[in-house]
Amino acid sequence: MKKEPFVTYEQLKEITKKYPTPFHLYDEKGIRDNVKALKDAFSWNKGFKEYFAVKATPNPFLINILKEYGCGCDCSSLTELMLANALDFAGNDIMFSSNATPANEFKYADEIGAIINLDDFTHIDFLEKTIGRIPETISCRYNPGGLFKISNSIMDNPGDAKYGFTTEQLFEGFRVLKEKGAKNFGIHAFLASNTVTNEYYPTLAKTLFETAVKLKEETGADIKFINLSGGIGIPYKPDEEPNDIKVIGEGVRKVYEEVLVPAGMGDVALYTELGRFMMGPYGCLVTTAIHQKHTHKEYIGCDACAVNLMRPAMYGAYHHITVMGKDNEILTNTYDITGSLCENNDKFAVDRRLPKIDIGDLLVIHDTGAHGFAMGYNYNGKLKSAEILLKEDGSTQLIRRPETPEDYFATFDCFDILDKMKF
Ligand SMILES: *Cc1c(COP(=O)(O)O)cnc(C)c1O
Repeated sequence: MKKEPFVTYEQLKEITKKYPTPFHLYDEKGIRDNVKALKDAFSWNKGFKEYFAVKATPNPFLINILKEYGCGCDCSSLTELMLANALDFAGNDIMFSSNATPANEFKYADEIGAIINLDDFTHIDFLEKTIGRIPETISCRYNPGGLFKISNSIMDNPGDAKYGFTTEQLFEGFRVLKEKGAKNFGIHAFLASNTVTNEYYPTLAKTLFETAVKLKEETGADIKFINLSGGIGIPYKPDEEPNDIKVIGEGVRKVYEEVLVPAGMGDVALYTELGRFMMGPYGCLVTTAIHQKHTHKEYIGCDACAVNLMRPAMYGAYHHITVMGKDNEILTNTYDITGSLCENNDKFAVDRRLPKIDIGDLLVIHDTGAHGFAMGYNYNGKLKSAEILLKEDGSTQLIRRPETPEDYFATFDCFDILDKMKF
Protein backbone atom coordinates (compact mmCIF):
# COMPACT_ATOMS: atom_id res chain seq x y z
CA MET A 1 0.00 0.00 0.00
CA LYS A 2 1.08 3.55 -0.68
CA LYS A 3 0.84 6.46 1.69
CA GLU A 4 -0.29 9.64 -0.03
CA PRO A 5 0.21 13.09 1.49
CA PHE A 6 -3.04 15.07 1.93
CA VAL A 7 -1.41 17.96 0.07
CA THR A 8 -0.30 17.91 -3.59
CA TYR A 9 3.15 18.94 -4.80
CA GLU A 10 1.62 21.88 -6.67
CA GLN A 11 -0.22 23.07 -3.55
CA LEU A 12 2.86 22.67 -1.41
CA LYS A 13 5.05 24.65 -3.81
CA GLU A 14 2.54 27.52 -3.50
CA ILE A 15 2.38 27.21 0.29
CA THR A 16 6.18 27.30 0.65
CA LYS A 17 6.30 30.53 -1.37
CA LYS A 18 4.36 32.14 1.47
CA TYR A 19 5.64 30.18 4.47
CA PRO A 20 9.26 29.03 4.65
CA THR A 21 9.94 25.45 5.77
CA PRO A 22 9.94 23.80 8.21
CA PHE A 23 6.30 23.87 9.33
CA HIS A 24 3.54 21.55 10.43
CA LEU A 25 0.60 21.49 8.03
CA TYR A 26 -2.89 20.32 9.08
CA ASP A 27 -5.72 19.00 6.94
CA GLU A 28 -9.04 20.59 7.91
CA LYS A 29 -11.12 18.26 5.75
CA GLY A 30 -9.46 15.16 7.18
CA ILE A 31 -10.04 16.35 10.74
CA ARG A 32 -13.72 17.07 10.05
CA ASP A 33 -14.45 13.81 8.21
CA ASN A 34 -12.78 11.81 10.97
CA VAL A 35 -14.61 13.44 13.89
CA LYS A 36 -17.91 12.93 12.05
CA ALA A 37 -17.08 9.24 11.61
CA LEU A 38 -16.24 8.90 15.32
CA LYS A 39 -19.50 10.54 16.38
CA ASP A 40 -21.43 8.35 13.99
CA ALA A 41 -19.76 5.17 15.25
CA PHE A 42 -20.87 5.91 18.84
CA SER A 43 -24.20 7.60 18.05
CA TRP A 44 -25.98 4.59 19.61
CA ASN A 45 -24.82 5.82 23.04
CA LYS A 46 -26.91 8.80 24.11
CA GLY A 47 -24.33 10.47 26.30
CA PHE A 48 -21.29 9.81 24.12
CA LYS A 49 -18.65 12.50 24.16
CA GLU A 50 -15.09 12.73 22.89
CA TYR A 51 -12.87 14.78 25.19
CA PHE A 52 -9.98 15.57 22.85
CA ALA A 53 -6.60 14.93 24.50
CA VAL A 54 -5.26 18.48 24.32
CA LYS A 55 -1.67 17.37 24.92
CA ALA A 56 -1.64 15.71 21.48
CA THR A 57 -2.18 18.97 19.56
CA PRO A 58 -2.63 22.00 21.82
CA ASN A 59 -3.66 24.46 19.12
CA PRO A 60 -6.81 26.54 19.74
CA PHE A 61 -7.75 26.72 16.04
CA LEU A 62 -7.70 22.94 15.70
CA ILE A 63 -9.49 22.35 19.01
CA ASN A 64 -12.20 24.78 17.93
CA ILE A 65 -12.88 22.63 14.86
CA LEU A 66 -13.55 19.65 17.14
CA LYS A 67 -15.66 21.87 19.41
CA GLU A 68 -18.06 22.46 16.51
CA TYR A 69 -18.86 18.75 16.69
CA GLY A 70 -19.57 18.82 20.42
CA CYS A 71 -16.19 17.51 21.56
CA GLY A 72 -14.82 18.48 24.94
CA CYS A 73 -11.21 18.70 26.15
CA ASP A 74 -9.13 16.26 28.15
CA CYS A 75 -6.45 18.23 29.97
CA SER A 76 -3.35 17.07 31.79
CA SER A 77 -1.96 20.31 33.20
CA LEU A 78 -2.68 23.87 34.28
CA THR A 79 -1.96 25.46 30.91
CA GLU A 80 -4.11 22.93 29.07
CA LEU A 81 -6.95 23.71 31.48
CA MET A 82 -6.38 27.42 30.85
CA LEU A 83 -6.55 26.83 27.11
CA ALA A 84 -9.82 24.88 27.39
CA ASN A 85 -11.28 27.56 29.63
CA ALA A 86 -10.19 30.34 27.27
CA LEU A 87 -11.97 28.54 24.44
CA ASP A 88 -15.21 28.70 26.47
CA PHE A 89 -15.63 25.01 27.07
CA ALA A 90 -18.24 24.42 29.77
CA GLY A 91 -16.90 22.84 32.97
CA ASN A 92 -18.40 19.43 32.26
CA ASP A 93 -16.86 19.54 28.80
CA ILE A 94 -13.42 19.57 30.42
CA MET A 95 -11.92 16.38 31.82
CA PHE A 96 -8.85 16.74 34.03
CA SER A 97 -6.94 13.46 33.70
CA SER A 98 -3.66 14.31 35.38
CA ASN A 99 -1.18 12.43 37.54
CA ALA A 100 1.25 13.50 40.26
CA THR A 101 -0.98 16.58 40.25
CA PRO A 102 0.20 19.82 41.89
CA ALA A 103 -2.33 21.38 44.29
CA ASN A 104 -2.74 24.58 42.28
CA GLU A 105 -3.83 22.52 39.26
CA PHE A 106 -6.59 20.78 41.23
CA LYS A 107 -7.63 24.20 42.53
CA TYR A 108 -7.87 25.69 39.07
CA ALA A 109 -9.67 22.63 37.65
CA ASP A 110 -12.23 22.94 40.44
CA GLU A 111 -12.65 26.68 39.88
CA ILE A 112 -13.52 26.21 36.22
CA GLY A 113 -15.79 23.26 37.02
CA ALA A 114 -13.77 20.61 35.17
CA ILE A 115 -14.49 16.95 35.90
CA ILE A 116 -11.61 15.65 38.00
CA ASN A 117 -10.35 12.18 37.13
CA LEU A 118 -8.26 11.04 40.10
CA ASP A 119 -5.12 9.06 39.36
CA ASP A 120 -4.54 7.67 42.84
CA PHE A 121 -6.26 6.65 46.06
CA THR A 122 -4.18 9.13 48.09
CA HIS A 123 -5.39 11.93 45.84
CA ILE A 124 -8.83 11.69 47.47
CA ASP A 125 -7.44 13.22 50.66
CA PHE A 126 -5.10 15.51 48.76
CA LEU A 127 -7.99 16.89 46.70
CA GLU A 128 -10.24 17.30 49.73
CA LYS A 129 -7.54 19.21 51.61
CA THR A 130 -6.75 21.29 48.54
CA ILE A 131 -10.25 22.42 47.55
CA GLY A 132 -12.00 21.93 50.89
CA ARG A 133 -14.49 19.27 49.77
CA ILE A 134 -15.04 16.41 47.35
CA PRO A 135 -16.85 17.44 44.15
CA GLU A 136 -20.26 15.88 43.46
CA THR A 137 -19.00 14.52 40.14
CA ILE A 138 -15.76 12.59 40.29
CA SER A 139 -13.94 9.96 38.26
CA CYS A 140 -11.22 7.45 39.14
CA ARG A 141 -8.58 6.01 36.88
CA TYR A 142 -8.32 2.21 37.00
CA ASN A 143 -5.20 0.11 36.47
CA PRO A 144 -5.89 -3.62 36.80
CA GLY A 145 -2.15 -4.41 36.57
CA GLY A 146 -0.70 -7.42 34.77
CA LEU A 147 -0.41 -7.56 31.02
CA PHE A 148 -3.08 -6.30 28.66
CA LYS A 149 -3.72 -9.03 26.08
CA ILE A 150 -5.93 -9.33 23.05
CA SER A 151 -6.33 -12.85 21.66
CA ASN A 152 -3.13 -13.94 23.40
CA SER A 153 -0.96 -11.17 22.03
CA ILE A 154 0.43 -8.70 24.54
CA MET A 155 -0.72 -5.17 23.78
CA ASP A 156 0.88 -3.35 26.69
CA ASN A 157 2.03 -3.70 30.28
CA PRO A 158 -0.31 -1.85 32.71
CA GLY A 159 1.45 -3.55 35.63
CA ASP A 160 4.47 -1.44 34.79
CA ALA A 161 2.55 1.81 34.28
CA LYS A 162 2.51 4.57 36.88
CA TYR A 163 -1.15 5.39 36.38
CA GLY A 164 -4.33 4.57 38.20
CA PHE A 165 -5.88 2.80 41.20
CA THR A 166 -5.50 -0.96 41.76
CA THR A 167 -8.72 -2.96 41.87
CA GLU A 168 -8.86 -2.94 45.68
CA GLN A 169 -8.11 0.77 45.82
CA LEU A 170 -10.83 1.49 43.29
CA PHE A 171 -13.53 -0.22 45.36
CA GLU A 172 -12.30 1.39 48.57
CA GLY A 173 -11.96 4.73 46.78
CA PHE A 174 -15.58 4.68 45.60
CA ARG A 175 -16.73 3.92 49.17
CA VAL A 176 -14.69 6.75 50.63
CA LEU A 177 -15.72 9.22 47.92
CA LYS A 178 -19.38 8.35 48.44
CA GLU A 179 -19.06 8.92 52.18
CA LYS A 180 -17.46 12.27 51.49
CA GLY A 181 -20.39 13.39 49.38
CA ALA A 182 -19.62 12.37 45.78
CA LYS A 183 -22.84 11.62 43.87
CA ASN A 184 -21.95 11.05 40.22
CA PHE A 185 -19.17 8.59 39.47
CA GLY A 186 -17.02 7.85 36.47
CA ILE A 187 -14.39 5.21 35.72
CA HIS A 188 -11.47 5.67 33.37
CA ALA A 189 -8.70 3.41 32.07
CA PHE A 190 -5.95 3.70 29.47
CA LEU A 191 -4.29 0.30 29.15
CA ALA A 192 -2.58 0.29 25.74
CA SER A 193 -1.25 2.99 23.46
CA ASN A 194 -1.37 3.38 19.67
CA THR A 195 -3.33 0.16 19.13
CA VAL A 196 -3.80 -0.63 15.47
CA THR A 197 -6.56 -3.21 15.99
CA ASN A 198 -10.33 -2.90 16.13
CA GLU A 199 -10.33 -5.10 19.24
CA TYR A 200 -8.68 -2.72 21.74
CA TYR A 201 -11.69 -0.63 22.72
CA PRO A 202 -14.14 -3.57 22.94
CA THR A 203 -11.65 -5.55 25.09
CA LEU A 204 -10.98 -2.56 27.35
CA ALA A 205 -14.71 -1.81 27.50
CA LYS A 206 -15.46 -5.33 28.71
CA THR A 207 -13.00 -4.96 31.61
CA LEU A 208 -14.37 -1.54 32.52
CA PHE A 209 -18.04 -2.48 32.15
CA GLU A 210 -17.68 -5.59 34.32
CA THR A 211 -15.81 -3.58 36.93
CA ALA A 212 -18.51 -0.89 36.81
CA VAL A 213 -21.26 -3.43 37.46
CA LYS A 214 -19.38 -4.81 40.48
CA LEU A 215 -18.63 -1.31 41.76
CA LYS A 216 -22.28 -0.40 41.60
CA GLU A 217 -23.34 -3.62 43.33
CA GLU A 218 -20.74 -3.43 46.09
CA THR A 219 -20.53 0.30 46.78
CA GLY A 220 -23.92 1.57 45.58
CA ALA A 221 -22.13 4.28 43.59
CA ASP A 222 -24.17 5.88 40.84
CA ILE A 223 -21.95 5.41 37.80
CA LYS A 224 -22.81 8.00 35.19
CA PHE A 225 -19.97 7.60 32.73
CA ILE A 226 -17.23 5.25 31.61
CA ASN A 227 -14.24 6.80 29.95
CA LEU A 228 -12.40 4.60 27.45
CA SER A 229 -9.70 7.25 27.22
CA GLY A 230 -7.16 7.29 24.36
CA GLY A 231 -5.13 4.58 22.71
CA ILE A 232 -6.80 4.03 19.34
CA GLY A 233 -3.83 4.11 17.03
CA ILE A 234 -3.08 5.05 13.45
CA PRO A 235 -1.15 3.24 10.74
CA TYR A 236 2.23 4.99 10.69
CA LYS A 237 3.58 2.36 8.28
CA PRO A 238 2.21 2.02 4.76
CA ASP A 239 1.50 -1.70 5.17
CA GLU A 240 -0.57 -1.31 8.33
CA GLU A 241 -4.33 -1.70 8.13
CA PRO A 242 -6.08 1.37 9.58
CA ASN A 243 -8.62 0.96 12.38
CA ASP A 244 -12.25 1.03 11.32
CA ILE A 245 -14.01 3.27 13.83
CA LYS A 246 -17.43 1.97 12.82
CA VAL A 247 -16.36 -1.59 13.65
CA ILE A 248 -14.86 -0.37 16.93
CA GLY A 249 -18.10 1.44 17.86
CA GLU A 250 -20.15 -1.65 17.09
CA GLY A 251 -17.74 -3.85 19.07
CA VAL A 252 -18.18 -1.60 22.11
CA ARG A 253 -21.96 -1.58 21.60
CA LYS A 254 -22.05 -5.38 21.70
CA VAL A 255 -20.22 -5.49 25.05
CA TYR A 256 -22.38 -2.65 26.38
CA GLU A 257 -25.52 -4.63 25.57
CA GLU A 258 -24.06 -7.83 27.04
CA VAL A 259 -22.74 -6.38 30.29
CA LEU A 260 -24.24 -2.99 31.20
CA VAL A 261 -27.80 -3.25 29.90
CA PRO A 262 -28.71 -6.46 31.81
CA ALA A 263 -27.29 -4.85 34.99
CA GLY A 264 -29.74 -1.95 34.62
CA MET A 265 -26.92 0.37 33.53
CA GLY A 266 -28.16 1.06 30.01
CA ASP A 267 -28.01 4.81 30.60
CA VAL A 268 -24.27 5.04 31.28
CA ALA A 269 -22.56 7.60 29.02
CA LEU A 270 -19.40 6.61 27.19
CA TYR A 271 -16.56 9.05 26.94
CA THR A 272 -13.33 8.89 24.93
CA GLU A 273 -10.16 10.95 25.24
CA LEU A 274 -8.63 10.29 21.86
CA GLY A 275 -5.65 12.29 20.73
CA ARG A 276 -3.64 10.42 18.12
CA PHE A 277 -6.72 9.07 16.35
CA MET A 278 -8.28 12.54 16.10
CA MET A 279 -5.31 14.40 14.64
CA GLY A 280 -2.35 12.11 13.88
CA PRO A 281 -2.93 11.45 10.17
CA TYR A 282 -4.16 15.01 9.54
CA GLY A 283 -0.85 16.70 10.16
CA CYS A 284 2.52 16.48 8.45
CA LEU A 285 5.90 18.09 8.90
CA VAL A 286 7.16 19.80 5.77
CA THR A 287 10.91 20.23 5.50
CA THR A 288 13.47 20.99 2.80
CA ALA A 289 16.54 18.90 2.02
CA ILE A 290 19.38 21.39 2.50
CA HIS A 291 22.46 19.16 2.59
CA GLN A 292 23.75 15.89 1.22
CA LYS A 293 26.55 14.15 2.97
CA HIS A 294 28.45 11.10 1.73
CA THR A 295 30.55 9.54 4.50
CA HIS A 296 30.17 6.12 6.08
CA LYS A 297 26.53 6.42 5.13
CA GLU A 298 24.43 8.58 2.85
CA TYR A 299 22.84 11.47 4.73
CA ILE A 300 20.24 14.04 3.81
CA GLY A 301 20.29 17.06 6.15
CA CYS A 302 16.96 18.84 6.60
CA ASP A 303 15.90 22.24 7.88
CA ALA A 304 13.67 20.48 10.45
CA CYS A 305 15.06 18.56 13.40
CA ALA A 306 13.93 16.54 16.42
CA VAL A 307 12.80 19.79 18.04
CA ASN A 308 9.98 19.79 15.48
CA LEU A 309 9.25 16.07 15.74
CA MET A 310 10.68 14.08 18.58
CA ARG A 311 9.02 10.70 18.13
CA PRO A 312 11.69 9.09 15.94
CA ALA A 313 14.49 10.21 18.29
CA MET A 314 12.60 9.33 21.46
CA TYR A 315 10.85 6.09 20.54
CA GLY A 316 12.55 5.05 17.32
CA ALA A 317 9.10 5.65 15.84
CA TYR A 318 8.54 5.17 12.12
CA HIS A 319 7.22 8.16 10.18
CA HIS A 320 6.69 7.69 6.49
CA ILE A 321 8.46 10.17 4.22
CA THR A 322 7.37 11.29 0.77
CA VAL A 323 9.81 13.14 -1.47
CA MET A 324 7.41 15.51 -3.17
CA GLY A 325 7.27 15.34 -6.93
CA LYS A 326 9.16 12.04 -6.92
CA ASP A 327 6.35 9.92 -5.60
CA ASN A 328 6.30 7.67 -8.64
CA GLU A 329 10.04 7.20 -8.92
CA ILE A 330 11.72 3.98 -7.91
CA LEU A 331 13.37 3.77 -4.52
CA THR A 332 16.97 3.78 -5.68
CA ASN A 333 18.75 5.18 -2.62
CA THR A 334 19.20 4.39 1.06
CA TYR A 335 19.40 7.42 3.32
CA ASP A 336 19.52 8.57 6.89
CA ILE A 337 17.30 11.68 6.98
CA THR A 338 18.68 13.95 9.68
CA GLY A 339 18.10 17.20 11.49
CA SER A 340 20.77 19.59 12.68
CA LEU A 341 20.96 18.84 16.40
CA CYS A 342 24.28 17.90 17.96
CA GLU A 343 22.66 14.65 18.98
CA ASN A 344 23.03 11.51 16.90
CA ASN A 345 19.42 10.43 17.58
CA ASP A 346 18.27 13.37 15.52
CA LYS A 347 17.21 11.30 12.53
CA PHE A 348 13.73 11.21 11.02
CA ALA A 349 14.61 7.97 9.24
CA VAL A 350 17.46 5.49 9.29
CA ASP A 351 18.41 3.35 6.28
CA ARG A 352 15.23 4.43 4.48
CA ARG A 353 14.77 3.44 0.85
CA LEU A 354 13.75 6.57 -1.05
CA PRO A 355 13.99 8.06 -4.53
CA LYS A 356 17.18 10.02 -5.18
CA ILE A 357 16.92 13.27 -3.22
CA ASP A 358 18.30 16.56 -4.53
CA ILE A 359 19.04 19.63 -2.48
CA GLY A 360 15.92 21.78 -2.39
CA ASP A 361 13.52 18.84 -2.51
CA LEU A 362 10.50 19.13 -0.27
CA LEU A 363 10.01 16.23 2.11
CA VAL A 364 6.69 15.46 3.72
CA ILE A 365 7.01 13.58 7.00
CA HIS A 366 3.63 11.93 7.56
CA ASP A 367 1.35 11.55 10.57
CA THR A 368 2.71 14.32 12.75
CA GLY A 369 -0.72 15.74 13.64
CA ALA A 370 -0.67 14.33 17.18
CA HIS A 371 2.22 14.24 19.65
CA GLY A 372 4.26 15.94 16.92
CA PHE A 373 4.69 19.70 17.30
CA ALA A 374 3.41 19.32 20.87
CA MET A 375 6.40 17.31 22.08
CA GLY A 376 8.78 19.93 20.77
CA TYR A 377 11.53 21.34 22.91
CA ASN A 378 14.32 23.85 22.50
CA TYR A 379 17.52 21.82 22.70
CA ASN A 380 20.48 23.42 20.92
CA GLY A 381 18.54 26.68 21.10
CA LYS A 382 16.48 25.54 18.12
CA LEU A 383 13.16 27.26 17.62
CA LYS A 384 9.76 25.68 17.15
CA SER A 385 8.15 25.95 13.76
CA ALA A 386 4.91 27.47 12.53
CA GLU A 387 1.66 25.54 12.27
CA ILE A 388 -0.48 26.06 9.18
CA LEU A 389 -4.01 24.92 8.44
CA LEU A 390 -4.85 23.73 4.93
CA LYS A 391 -8.51 24.64 4.77
CA GLU A 392 -11.28 22.78 3.03
CA ASP A 393 -11.35 25.34 0.21
CA GLY A 394 -7.62 24.84 -0.45
CA SER A 395 -6.53 28.12 1.13
CA THR A 396 -4.12 28.25 4.06
CA GLN A 397 -4.17 29.95 7.43
CA LEU A 398 -1.30 30.50 9.81
CA ILE A 399 -2.46 29.02 13.14
CA ARG A 400 0.79 29.44 15.06
CA ARG A 401 3.69 31.66 14.10
CA PRO A 402 7.20 30.27 14.26
CA GLU A 403 9.18 30.99 17.43
CA THR A 404 11.65 33.85 17.30
CA PRO A 405 14.87 34.32 19.27
CA GLU A 406 12.91 36.79 21.42
CA ASP A 407 10.62 33.94 22.48
CA TYR A 408 13.63 31.81 23.29
CA PHE A 409 15.18 34.47 25.50
CA ALA A 410 11.89 35.69 27.00
CA THR A 411 12.39 33.93 30.33
CA PHE A 412 15.37 36.17 31.05
CA ASP A 413 13.09 39.22 30.91
CA CYS A 414 13.03 39.55 34.70
CA PHE A 415 16.78 40.25 34.74
CA ASP A 416 18.65 43.22 33.37
CA ILE A 417 21.07 40.99 31.45
CA LEU A 418 18.71 41.00 28.46
CA ASP A 419 19.04 44.77 28.14
CA LYS A 420 22.81 44.38 27.89
CA MET A 421 22.61 41.67 25.21
CA LYS A 422 22.41 42.82 21.64
CA PHE A 423 20.52 40.62 19.19
C1 LIG B 1 -2.15 10.86 26.21
C2 LIG B 1 -3.50 10.62 26.77
C3 LIG B 1 -4.62 10.47 25.95
C4 LIG B 1 -4.53 10.45 24.46
O1 LIG B 1 -3.82 9.36 24.01
P1 LIG B 1 -3.75 8.99 22.45
O2 LIG B 1 -2.83 7.84 22.42
O3 LIG B 1 -3.24 10.19 21.76
O4 LIG B 1 -5.14 8.64 22.03
C5 LIG B 1 -5.84 10.32 26.56
N1 LIG B 1 -5.98 10.30 27.91
C6 LIG B 1 -4.93 10.45 28.73
C7 LIG B 1 -5.14 10.45 30.19
C8 LIG B 1 -3.66 10.60 28.19
O5 LIG B 1 -2.61 10.72 29.01
